[in-house]
Amino acid sequence: MVLLDGKKTAQDLKEEIKATVGTLQVKNQRPPHLAAILVGNDGASLTYVGSKVRSCEYVGFDSTLIQLEENTSETELLKKIEELNQDANLDGYIVQLPLPKHINEEKILLAIDPEKDVDGFHPSNFGRMALEMDAFIPATPFGILELLERYQIETSGKHCVVVGRSHIVGRPISILLSQKGPVGNATVTVAHSRTENLADLTRNADIIVMALGIPEFLTADMVKEGAVIIDVGITRVTDTNHPKGYVIRGDVAFEEVASKSSYITPVPGGVGPMTIAMLLKNTLLAYQRKH
Ligand code: NDP
Repeated sequence: MVLLDGKKTAQDLKEEIKATVGTLQVKNQRPPHLAAILVGNDGASLTYVGSKVRSCEYVGFDSTLIQLEENTSETELLKKIEELNQDANLDGYIVQLPLPKHINEEKILLAIDPEKDVDGFHPSNFGRMALEMDAFIPATPFGILELLERYQIETSGKHCVVVGRSHIVGRPISILLSQKGPVGNATVTVAHSRTENLADLTRNADIIVMALGIPEFLTADMVKEGAVIIDVGITRVTDTNHPKGYVIRGDVAFEEVASKSSYITPVPGGVGPMTIAMLLKNTLLAYQRKH
C-alpha cells in the first residue's frame, strides 16, 4: 500500500508556486492577489479561510480577508462582490460557504465574475469544464486529479466509483475522470443516497472516490484487493480523550481498508491540503491569464 501524501504533494506545489511568484518579483511585477469573503462567525469557515490566507502569504501572494457581519444583507454582499469584480488589482476571490440562511447562495454565485471565480463554482466555469474547455476547476476535484497525476496512477480504462454527487466534489470529479485527457478516460459510476447495492458497485471498482461526509462509511468488505482509495470526507467526531474534544475522520475506515488498497489518501493529510494548494494554483492561473 502506498500512502497518497497530500500534505507533501501540496507543499511541493506551494514551493513551485512560490518560485513562480519569485520570478515576478525579479521582473518588478505585482504578485497574484486573492481575496476571501467570509460572512458571519462560523468556526469551521473561519479555520478554512484562515489557512487559505496563511497559504497565500507563504507563496508570496497578496491576500485580502473581507469579514462581514452575520446580519449582512444580500444587497450589501452583492455590492461588495461588484466592487471585487471591478478591482483591477484583484485576480480572484472566493465567497466562503455556507452563507447565512437569509442570503441566496445561487444569486451570489451568479454575481461572481467567472474570470475571478477561482473556486470554479460559477455555472460558466462548470459548463466550460464539462465541455473540456479552458476553465477554473473546483479546487477539491482539481486536487484529486493532481494527486493521481503526481503518483502516476493509471485511470484510463479503469472502473471508478464516485460516492456523492455534490456540485463541489462528487459531480465535478465524476465528469473529470470520464473526460479525455491524461488523468481521465475512466468508466465512471456515480453513487448517491438512492443508490441500491452500493457495496456491489464499490467491490467492482478499481478507483473509489468517497465524498459523502459519513465517517468510516467505506469498510474493507466493500473494497476489492488493490483498489485505489480517495477519501474526501472530513467530519469532526467527538472524542473526549482528545484535547480539542474531537478528531477528524474521513469517509473510509482507514485501518482496515488501507491494507487491502494499492494507494490510499489519509484523513487528515490527503485531499484536504491539496484543496488549498489548488486554490492557489487557480489564482496563479487567473493572474497569468490577465498578464
Ligand atoms: P454533500 O453533503 O453536499 O453531498 C453528500 C453526497 O453524499 C450527496 O450526493 C448524497 O446523496 C451522498 N450520500 C449521502 N449519504 C449517502 C449514502 N448513505 N450512500 C451513498 N451516498 C450518500 O457533501 P460534500 O460533497 O460537500 O462533502 C462531502 C464530504 O467531503 C464532507 O465530509 C465534506 O466535509 C468533505 N469535503 C472535503 C473537502 C476537502 O477539501 N477535503 C472539500 C469539500 C468537502 P444525495 O445527493 O442523494 O443526497
